[in-house]
Amino acid sequence: MSTTADAIRSADAHSAHTYHPLPVVVATAEGAWMTDVEGRRYLDMLAGYSALNFGHGNRRLLDAAHAQLERVTLTSRAFHHDRFADFCTELAALCGKEAVLPMNTGAEAVETAVKTARKWGYEVKGVPDGHAKIVVAADNFHGRTTTIVSFSTDHEARDHYGPYTPGFEIVPYGDLTALAAAVTSNTVAVLLEPIQGEAGVLVPPAGYLRGVRELTRERNVLFMADEIQSGLGRTGKTFACEHEDVVPDVYILGKALGGGVVPVSAVVADLDVLGVFRPGEHGSTFGGNPLACAVALEVIAMLRTGEYQQRATELGDHLHRELNLLVGGGAVTAVRGRGLWAGVDIDPSRGTGREISEKLMELGVLVKDTHGSTIRIAPPLVISKEDLDWGLDQLRSVLGA
Ligand SMILES: *Cc1c(COP(=O)(O)O)cnc(C)c1O
Repeated sequence: MSTTADAIRSADAHSAHTYHPLPVVVATAEGAWMTDVEGRRYLDMLAGYSALNFGHGNRRLLDAAHAQLERVTLTSRAFHHDRFADFCTELAALCGKEAVLPMNTGAEAVETAVKTARKWGYEVKGVPDGHAKIVVAADNFHGRTTTIVSFSTDHEARDHYGPYTPGFEIVPYGDLTALAAAVTSNTVAVLLEPIQGEAGVLVPPAGYLRGVRELTRERNVLFMADEIQSGLGRTGKTFACEHEDVVPDVYILGKALGGGVVPVSAVVADLDVLGVFRPGEHGSTFGGNPLACAVALEVIAMLRTGEYQQRATELGDHLHRELNLLVGGGAVTAVRGRGLWAGVDIDPSRGTGREISEKLMELGVLVKDTHGSTIRIAPPLVISKEDLDWGLDQLRSVLGA
C-alpha cells in the first residue's frame, strides 16, 4: 500500500469532507514546486488561491518569520507590541489610506467590512438603525461565515445554513444599471470583487469599476473592494482596481498578505470610515499579532519594489497569449483573467475540469477546477518563464492541443 493511499484514506476517515482534494500528498515545497510524500515533484499552478504569491519557502518571508518567532509571537491587543505601528503605517501607505484594522482570515476581514459599513451607515450617513443594506454581486465569493453565505448565490455554499442574515441585495455582476437601481437611501455599501475569482476569474466589462466608483460617490455609499484574491500583485498591479484607476473607500485584504506563512487579513480605509470604532466594539485575539505583522511587513516591502507586479504583468501577458491560442481549437472555449491569473473553460468533449486537473496532476502540474468545466491557473508570481512554459506544455498535451 502506498504512502499516498494510506495518507488519503486516513484523512478521509478522520476529517470532515468539506473538500475533495486531488490525490496528491504534499510533503515539502520550494518556489513554484511541491514534492509529495513519494518524492514526485509538481508545479504549483494554484499558489494557494493567491495566498502564495511569493512562492513556497520564500527566503525573505522565512527570515522575517524566524526572526520574529525568536522575539515575541503574541501579545493580544490588550498591550502594544513593537511591530504593530509599523505594520499599520506601511499597509495604510501601500493602500493610500489612513488606517488599518487587522484580522486573520479573509472571511473575518469581510465580516469586519460589513460591520464597518453598517456602523458607518448608522453613525455617519444617518440610516435608521437596523435598516442598513449592502449591495453585492451574484456569483460572489467572500468567505464561509453564516453572514457571508447569507448573500452567496452558490447553493453548495449556502444551502441548509439558514436562518440567513438579512440586509443584503444581490445584483448581476458587471451590470451598472441593476446596481444603480438597487441602491436606496438605506444602502451603506457596495461590496464587490474587482475580478470574481471563485466564479471562474470573471473580469467585469470595461468601465464597470469606474461606474461603481462614480455611483457610490454620488449616492454617499461606501465602495468596498474585496481584493483578498485579486490584490497584492496577482493581476500585475498592487490592486486590481488600479486597472481602471479606481480607488475604493475600503480595501479588504487577506491571502498573500500573510505570505503563505500565517493568516493575515485587514480592512484598510480612511479614518472617516474606520474611525467609527471605539475600544471594545470589535476585536480579534490573534488579529495584528507580532508574527503576523512581521511577515506582512516583509510582504509590503516586497510589493513596494514593484518587481512582483512587473513579473505578473510580463508573465501574465505571455500566459494569456499562449492560452488564447488554444481558444477555438476545439479544446478551450474561453479564457479570462488578468496578469498571472486565468480561468480556462474546457470544451466538455475533453473532459470535466476535474478530469483535466487529475490528468495534469499525473503529468506533474497542480491546478484547481471550478464550476464543472473551468480550470484556474494562478502560479506563484516567482515562477520562472521556463517553468510556466513547461506547465503550458503539459496543459496542451492533456487537451490534445
Ligand atoms: C479566499 C477569499 C475569501 C475568504 O478568505 P478566507 O481566508 O478563506 O476566509 C474572501 N474573498 C475572496 C475574494 C477570496 O478569494
